[in-house]
Amino acid sequence: MSERTIAAIATPLGEGGIGVIRISGDDAITVAEKCFAAFSGEMLSSLGGYQASYGRVFDKNGETLDDAVALVFRAPKSYTGENVVEISVHGGTVITRQVLRRVLECGAALATGGEFTKRAFLNGKLDLTKAESVMGLISARNDAAAKISRGAREGRISRDTEDILNKLLETAASLAAFADYPDEDIPNLSEENFSRLLDECHVKCEKLISTYDTGRAIREGINCAIVGKPNVGKSTIMNLLCGSDRSIVTDIAGTTRDVVENVVNVGDIMLNLADTAGIHTTDDTVEKFGVDKAIQKIKNAELLLAVFDSSAPLDSDDKQLLDSIQDKKCIVILNKTDLAPVLNKQDLGKFEIIEISARQGDGYNELCAAINRVCKTEMLSPDDTVLINERQRDCVCRALQAVSAARDALCCGMTLDAVGVCVDDAIAALLELTGKRVTNEVCDEIFKRFCVGK
Ligand code: GDP
Repeated sequence: MSERTIAAIATPLGEGGIGVIRISGDDAITVAEKCFAAFSGEMLSSLGGYQASYGRVFDKNGETLDDAVALVFRAPKSYTGENVVEISVHGGTVITRQVLRRVLECGAALATGGEFTKRAFLNGKLDLTKAESVMGLISARNDAAAKISRGAREGRISRDTEDILNKLLETAASLAAFADYPDEDIPNLSEENFSRLLDECHVKCEKLISTYDTGRAIREGINCAIVGKPNVGKSTIMNLLCGSDRSIVTDIAGTTRDVVENVVNVGDIMLNLADTAGIHTTDDTVEKFGVDKAIQKIKNAELLLAVFDSSAPLDSDDKQLLDSIQDKKCIVILNKTDLAPVLNKQDLGKFEIIEISARQGDGYNELCAAINRVCKTEMLSPDDTVLINERQRDCVCRALQAVSAARDALCCGMTLDAVGVCVDDAIAALLELTGKRVTNEVCDEIFKRFCVGK
């Protein structure tokens, strides 16, 4: 256990039903008792774990700061694994700050960012991947992102890593035994068996790494641009997907002169949606600037919604757009289906085509379904194990490299010692992933990114 007893406001600063001040450490209960008095007269130190007391928090003159409920957790059965008291008062910036100040006067030190979770990790309550998932849960911006983090919190990454680690440890132990007793006929000690185990680890590491991009798309959103020549209905579609008037809609061509951006959840998919200026040839300097930006957006987009007006024939601007999107992941939207059809669908080529009337909202569900379908084909489900940050990916990449090196060493007939060194490197990288073997610097770096109070 750590020597300092720490405290922080655990709820967001602002007006709310309740605000919670969390105290953790050996002296948490003693500190809380100095500023909290139960209406029943019962002392907090007489309470068992998970027991609450209703009373008041008072200042150094005995004046009441607020009514409060103090909830006691006894080590090791708490979030941090230490004694913890959570004091719930009325939510409000002033009250929570006053109570925190009082708790600090009574002997607690102000917690640094992520210090509660860091203590939970250091006290063996969580491994590093689970600790990181806490941050993912707090910052989740959609259901799928929360689900991924919940999976990591429940130990999915730890379990998959453990699985690879066990195979590597088995390989390392067998290699050592084989080196010591090369002439003994011990079952499973053969180069074929080492090779099989390393192959299995290789496949599993690759699979884990491949989950990272999906996780990033789910957490941070897919960059999606709405493109098309002026007046085809891009802004109307943007507004339809946003459920509000984010873009200005007029029948004057060139109204959207810059890129308008918004984050929208379409089913399980989060889109970083950009409504771009209509792409066409223009002499207007400001409009040209918008067109250049739109072209840039097409280049960077992971998904394009290319819009065409079904009530007008395909012209040279449309054809130019079709040419520029050939290699992109794209849904073609044939808009204005409420008007008499003129455009021939066959001219739009190989793309998935969704017909809508953005003005009337017809085809909206089909468009949402298409976005989900197209994005998910290359996506795995949030129910799978997903690596949730760059650090985790880096650890598994290093493990994969070391496993590859071990396989190469085995194939090239290098000494088993050389193979063993590579296997040890792979083990070290995975132990760093779960935090079983991690330097203080790495540990500090990880928890620094947490908010204070978590
Ligand atoms: P943008 O320049 O491509 O962004 O096009 P806007 O969204 O500004 O729309 C241009 C014009 O087309 C406006 O007058 C819209 O009301 C109209 N419009 C957009 N969608 C539809 C549609 O589905 N049907 C019809 N009839 N008009 C539409």
